[in-house]
Amino acid sequence: MENCIFCKIIAKQIPSEAIYEDEDLLAFKDIHPAAPVHFLIIPKLHMASLADAQPEHAELLGRMLELAPKLAQEQGCGVIKNADGSLTGGYKTLINTGPDGGQEVYHLHMHVMGGVKRQRA
Ligand code: 5GP
Ligand code: ZN
Repeated sequence: MENCIFCKIIAKQIPSEAIYEDEDLLAFKDIHPAAPVHFLIIPKLHMASLADAQPEHAELLGRMLELAPKLAQEQGCGVIKNADGSLTGGYKTLINTGPDGGQEVYHLHMHVMGGVKRQRA
């Protein structure tokens, strides 16, 4: 998609710090991290927002969700189950949708933010 910054990142016309790539998905570090670990997972298919997702995109969306815990683990903010059964670590997953949802880049993306305790979204 012309003039889409994330499509340009996918096409390597704009550099990014990629942490994962396959045929359908790309994950890269957010340029303005809001947490010690902050990366974005995007589909290579240009879709402006979650509001444009159709039933045929269900598998792609599922893969984005499935990837989040794997990459969070690799990036050092995965959920850890301690010997006593208690949990530590963890991260927030966030998809901003539309102007009132705080979306600034209109290519669907999921934020994964971890490494710090947050009280609210
Ligand atoms: P939104 O508010 O649309 O959910 O978030 C867009 C995110 O993309 C922001 O957190 C912003 O820092 C990030 N971002 C915008 N432009 C770039 C860029 O060129 N490179 C990278 N790595 N992140 C970007
Ligand atoms: Zn795009």
